[in-house]
Amino acid sequence: MLILLDIDGVLVPANSWKKPEFMEDGFPMFNSRSVKALQRILSETNASVLLTTSHKSKYKVAQWKDLLKSRGINPKRVHRLTTNSLLTSRKDEILQWYTKKRMPNEEFVIIDDDKMLNGLPENIKHNLVLTSPSIGLTDDLADEAISILQKSAYQYH
Ligand SMILES: [Mg+2]
Repeated sequence: MLILLDIDGVLVPANSWKKPEFMEDGFPMFNSRSVKALQRILSETNASVLLTTSHKSKYKVAQWKDLLKSRGINPKRVHRLTTNSLLTSRKDEILQWYTKKRMPNEEFVIIDDDKMLNGLPENIKHNLVLTSPSIGLTDDLADEAISILQKSAYQYH
């Protein structure tokens, strides 16, 4: 199972009226409720994380693991999308991943605040959990993400 994870607007809520607070590593602090919600998804599903955030190229995978760990998030595995989000929209990045990189039959959920993702094809959009940028990931949305990841367990084949 895989979580395609954005950070801004998901773990770092966008408050236009307030500057983000940074940790010692120079990256913004995460919202504690959103961290708890994400960590619950991880512990209930054991999913890996695929970073889609525009910050993804700033750090190597090992550094990302440390950065997430110091903020209370411990995924089994962390990967990064290799596409350049400065040149490509998030929607196109995700489409490229879906057609070229996705492991067949692996359940996935996209957690993002980019409303352009509403324009994804229906079969991919079913796996989208859209956050409100100023609030980020909530407990209710975490429930939604868990049921998307676990849906095959309840389907008849
Ligand atoms: Mg975002």
